[in-house]
Amino acid sequence: MNLVFLGPPGAGKGTQAKKLAEEKGYIHISTGDLLREAVRKGTPLGKKAREYMERGELVPDDLMVALIEEVFPEGGGVILDGFPRTIPQARALDEMLDKKGAVLDLAVLFDLPDEVVVERLSGRRSCPNCGAVYHMKYNPPKEDEMCDRCGVKLIQREDDREEVIRERLRVYRTRTAPLVDYYRDKGILITLDASGQIEEVYSRLKRAIDEKGD
Ligand code: ADP
Ligand code: AMP
Repeated sequence: MNLVFLGPPGAGKGTQAKKLAEEKGYIHISTGDLLREAVRKGTPLGKKAREYMERGELVPDDLMVALIEEVFPEGGGVILDGFPRTIPQARALDEMLDKKGAVLDLAVLFDLPDEVVVERLSGRRSCPNCGAVYHMKYNPPKEDEMCDRCGVKLIQREDDREEVIRERLRVYRTRTAPLVDYYRDKGILITLDASGQIEEVYSRLKRAIDEKGD
């Protein structure tokens, strides 16, 4: 199966994708993580993407499509987290899958009110070493602001500041939300209630995929 996780920033896509990938053997492709790594390493892509990301804007479609074409594995079995984010990206993905003889099985829309999204984003911390994601209130590390796995001090993402969060939500509504109809029209959209605790959402997610996926 190939899955797309869709929904506003902070809805819990990455958190759920990591759990599902670990349990079921999917390959988790987070374009946000890949871009942050490119920025950190100062690659040509990172240099081009940095300013857009800092402002909470989208990195241009041509760069993103090239990135996905580069990392998409031959055999599929992926969770795409954070891609596509525009209609042209969705079309390019369809074309790419077509060429490979693969299909997109489901698009899972993470549904969550804006207030909750903002609260999740403002409390988010991540490990600069292994990429583990925590929340200071809802999923705190065992030791104050330290990664459970690496013992490294956790960081707050630059784009999780309030002004940037507002811009990212605006960008989501104008550029990404149209994908909901795009996938609904294709008959592969499922809407997931993304509220409640992480484990609760995870059970709901697995149930929804099992129902649709067979
Ligand atoms: P996304 O990938 O959609 O941007 P994340 O998975 O990074 O979202 O989650 C955003 C923040 O919310 C993180 O700090 C994460 O630990 C926290 N979080 C994720 N799921 C839940 C949940 N069900 N309840 C409370 N906090 C959550
Ligand atoms: P994320 O980690 O998914 O919240 O993504 C962080 C940032 O990376 C976004 O705010 C965008 O600037 C950029 N980004 C990630 N994925 C995409 C994409 N598919 N298209 C354009 N920009 C993206």
